[in-house]
Amino acid sequence: MEVLVLNRNFFAIQITSWRRALRLVCLDRAQVVDQEYRTYNFDDWCTLSRAVKDHPGGFVKTPNFNLAIPEVIALKFYDKVPMREMKFTRKNIYEHYDYKCCYCGKKLAPNELNLDHIVPKSRGGKTDWKNIVTSCFPCNLKKGNMLLNEAKMKLLIKPNRPSINPGFGIILKSPIRLRTSWQKFIDNIYWNIELEN
Ligand SMILES: [Zn+2]
Repeated sequence: MEVLVLNRNFFAIQITSWRRALRLVCLDRAQVVDQEYRTYNFDDWCTLSRAVKDHPGGFVKTPNFNLAIPEVIALKFYDKVPMREMKFTRKNIYEHYDYKCCYCGKKLAPNELNLDHIVPKSRGGKTDWKNIVTSCFPCNLKKGNMLLNEAKMKLLIKPNRPSINPGFGIILKSPIRLRTSWQKFIDNIYWNIELEN
């Protein structure tokens, strides 16, 4: 059972286990949030739990009563939005350069593009945003194992690292079914799911 975690400003920032969610509420570091955006501290939530018979999140048994499992919690002290860096993948690099060859500027189909080390790998060039650009095959061949000045080539599009995603990105490590109760907290933010297997 997963619980959606909001920051203090009600931005969705994370998904966590119900155990951790309840621990955070118990430690008074988070409050439970219901569908009407009401918040509950641990005592209130215990009182409410005793009063309800049905709860969409289910219950966890305690010695004296059944404690409802929150669906959404909000952290009390954390108001940041975690920054997310764009992953260095072929797809992201192609998209970053808009499927253009950075040497001649031609826009091409993905299968007509290649990745090129500006400073060749064999000469110590790194494989990172600063040294990798998209290139068409002819430019790639022309440049070969040379440096830019040796090949007498110029970059029409300068390499640069994509700006850090300013969105409110949540990274899901595995595909998780989004719960309907989360929807209203997610609808009003930029929801960026990265699925990793
Ligand atoms: Zn080219």
